[in-house]
Amino acid sequence: MSLNQPQTIGKNLQDVREQIAAAARRCERPLEEITLLAVSKTKPVSAVEDAIAAGQLAFGENYVQEGVDKIAHFAGHQPALIWHFIGPLQSNKSRLVAENFDWCQTVDRLKIAQRLNEQRPADLPPLQVLIQVNISDEASKSGIAVDEVAALAIQIMAMPNLVLRGLMAIPAAETDHTRQLAVFGQMRDALKALQVICPQADTLSMGMTDDMPAAIAAGSTMVRIGTAIFGARDYNAKQ
Ligand SMILES: *Cc1c(COP(=O)(O)O)cnc(C)c1O
Repeated sequence: MSLNQPQTIGKNLQDVREQIAAAARRCERPLEEITLLAVSKTKPVSAVEDAIAAGQLAFGENYVQEGVDKIAHFAGHQPALIWHFIGPLQSNKSRLVAENFDWCQTVDRLKIAQRLNEQRPADLPPLQVLIQVNISDEASKSGIAVDEVAALAIQIMAMPNLVLRGLMAIPAAETDHTRQLAVFGQMRDALKALQVICPQADTLSMGMTDDMPAAIAAGSTMVRIGTAIFGARDYNAKQ
């Protein structure tokens, strides 16, 4: 069966929702605390349509132009879809993110925050943003150190067109559940520290297909799932 058949994506979504519910039960967390973000990068609009048909409304995209094209395709959809930008963001692409997305999860420097704030259209609600923290991946240039979060947060909180909602992380790949938990636990502590200065910060975006249960056990409020919903990605076929 092709991975893009509606019953497959719908069934995958149902399975992922059940896994989220099971993980929440195991650590006695209310299910309503955990949002499922469907990561549709490299996937065609038909795959997004299949996910919508199965009740999914929140989507994550990594590549600015691909995301903008999908947002335009689904403009005016009822109920409204919610689009999260979750990829590395270059300054010269910030305007497209500010003008099209509902959330940007990868704010990791003042310059990007300032541009998003200036470029957010006045007729749109403020852009919901997360600060990306580099918690364990020394090879990655994305994200700031935990001890730099407070200073950036204070600057973002003064920007009228941004709402700081919390933190996001992409830890280095790690197969051991206990070690996954330890890294995610550092993120939970970082969110608690942020909440002291920013009480509205309610979001901890962490957990992907291979580390979702540990992320939920450590307090994730938003899991970003691609492969388990849409199947493996073919980067050569990227739109
Ligand atoms: C691709 C991606 C995901 C989804 O990863 P899967 O392992 O396919 O679930 C989540 N978050 C970010 C930032 C990504 O780039």
